[in-house]
Amino acid sequence: MCRATTPATNPYNLSFRSLVARYLVNKAIVACQTRPPSGAPPALPEEKLDGRNPVPRKYSAGPALEDLPVCIIGAGVAGLYTAMVLDDFDIPYEIIEASDRHGGRVHTYHFETPEKPKFHNYYDVGAMRFPKIKIMDSVFELFKELDLYDDEKVIEYIMDAPGNIKLFNGQKVISGVSDDETDPFHVSVSNGGTVPDEYLEFTYVKDNGEILVGVAALLAEAYDPFKKKLVENFEEGWEYLMQFDSHSTRTYLGQVKSYPFSVIDWMETMDTSTLTYDLAFSETIIDSIDFDYPAGPNDPPGTITKWACVDGGTSVVTDRMVEKISGKISYNCRVTAIAMDDPTSDNPMMKISVQDHEEYEDKKYSHVIATAPLSCMRTMDLDQAGLDYAQNQALRTLGYGPSIKVAIKFKTRWWEQTSSPVMVGGVSSTDRPSRIVVYPSYSRKDPEDANGVLMASYCWTQDALRLGSLINGKGTDSEKALLDIIYRDLAKLHGEDPQWYKDQTVDYHAYDWYHNQYSMGAYASFGPGQFSNMYPELTKPAAKGNLHFIGEATSTHHAWIVGALESVDRGISEIFIKEQRADLIERHEKKWEQGEAEHGDTAKLQCLRGILGV
Ligand SMILES: Cc1cc2nc3c(=O)[nH]c(=O)nc-3n(C[C@H](O)[C@H](O)[C@H](O)COP(=O)(O)OP(=O)(O)OC[C@H]3O[C@@H](n4cnc5c(N)ncnc54)[C@H](O)[C@@H]3O)c2cc1C
Repeated sequence: MCRATTPATNPYNLSFRSLVARYLVNKAIVACQTRPPSGAPPALPEEKLDGRNPVPRKYSAGPALEDLPVCIIGAGVAGLYTAMVLDDFDIPYEIIEASDRHGGRVHTYHFETPEKPKFHNYYDVGAMRFPKIKIMDSVFELFKELDLYDDEKVIEYIMDAPGNIKLFNGQKVISGVSDDETDPFHVSVSNGGTVPDEYLEFTYVKDNGEILVGVAALLAEAYDPFKKKLVENFEEGWEYLMQFDSHSTRTYLGQVKSYPFSVIDWMETMDTSTLTYDLAFSETIIDSIDFDYPAGPNDPPGTITKWACVDGGTSVVTDRMVEKISGKISYNCRVTAIAMDDPTSDNPMMKISVQDHEEYEDKKYSHVIATAPLSCMRTMDLDQAGLDYAQNQALRTLGYGPSIKVAIKFKTRWWEQTSSPVMVGGVSSTDRPSRIVVYPSYSRKDPEDANGVLMASYCWTQDALRLGSLINGKGTDSEKALLDIIYRDLAKLHGEDPQWYKDQTVDYHAYDWYHNQYSMGAYASFGPGQFSNMYPELTKPAAKGNLHFIGEATSTHHAWIVGALESVDRGISEIFIKEQRADLIERHEKKWEQGEAEHGDTAKLQCLRGILGV
């Protein structure tokens, strides 16, 4: 997850990450078209295909799409959006969901409030905020389609607020009050820390004259050469970046930039969560272009991006999606296997197995859209699903990051009322175990005496793994210990005694996404080399073109709802291409061509790779 400043000028019609994705897919296709050294014929046609025409028919016709349902595995955003699109085309489907609720990683938890009206007694355990930048357009389009604007459900999410606190190395800095010193957290050697003094004073001047100092300057110094090259000439820039594709951010900063260990450690501490710099360097650069486009000489200094959230919690979105779709969801149905009904057929129908539901054994589907996280797909028997080696490897090795959230329902909204400073929205950050405290953006209009819910800890990576090990159920000793840690951190941030926060507590809820059996992790988190190598394999279908990997992880914008939506457009395209339905392709094309997924020739050739298994 990234913080964002509004990109200066992005000349592409699609996000930078999608440009990269299309490039990667094209390279994979060219590799399949190139005659191997053995002299065997190339598997894919060498000529370019017209995106509108059907792929060359190399397989028998199956039942019409209208006659046999599509099986959608998972009722998260991707599964529900697939259903909405299939409804538009009058194509029948069934949604099979393992858990007892829809929404998946969209999950708003509501506290019980017997004594008072509910007000904003909830928090978003999963997705909670959306930057208002071009990349996110399809999310806001969906909000429109679901009447969320008409019903005034889309409200401001406050990302930074005056009074937000930074507490590192025991030193507190309050935003807007005491944040202009060079070494406020006493990390420099001369202040008793380990960071050589010159790095704290390191400055970097952006092309538009904006001057950065310290961590921001060191990051810009490392990232900007790549970003500028990529923006000037994508192919050359990409080839240059790929020379470092096996690097993590940490190894790049250490081995290539020669930043000392203590400097990298300090940068990571201030910039993100613990050990995030072990993830792919190239991913960081790609994200950085989309969220912080390099400023040209005439660009104004980056203005701060506005963010939005949904009043009532993000589950309002998935609830409305469920209201909108015509099909029903079969809950408590864990898919345990996906298979081709006849693996020897050149165009098999699909079948699934569902734990404790034998009735599925006799069912046949035209296609399977699998939106379950790849981590969960790994638990299914896919032996008869026709995955190739690279796809199996991707399912096994793709990283899923951990994340935890702990929300506490307090008797009063003390952070908005009596705390010094008063806090309405934004986040405080610290190197203490809680790492991030998120103040609700939405409760300020609630009655003064209403309860309030504070996201008292939001962690990723190693920070999440550690606190996550304490999340073992309400009332357990470990959760008591977890709360004590959080009370201590709140006391350090806000000044009261830990016992005061304990006495103020009405209830709490702690959630660890890695120990959620239906996600087995929070979101895809690609390690060095993984995106460039795995994306082209995950975005081609298996099972001779009838099994489609959809969902957040198989998209260009993984870890965001928008990624889940984009992957659906690709999956639907794959189905229409495979079924040679020029009529449907044309109707779908407008949306698809404007979207982030591969399009035209590329999608067709990817689909062909899937059909031919190359
Ligand atoms: C902590 C956290 C914070 C986030 N913050 C944001 C944010 O602020 N903004 C944003 O845009 N995005 C955010 N995201 C990402 C966003 O939530 C996801 O990208 C998106 O919800 C994923 O949707 P999906 O449909 O791909 O997957 P999911 O929502 O995971 O849906 C998959 C479904 O498959 C089901 N399933 C699993 N196994 C099986 C099986 N064997 N059989 C049948 N069904 C199965 C699951 O129960 C689930 O319902 C966040 C995610 C997390 C975890």
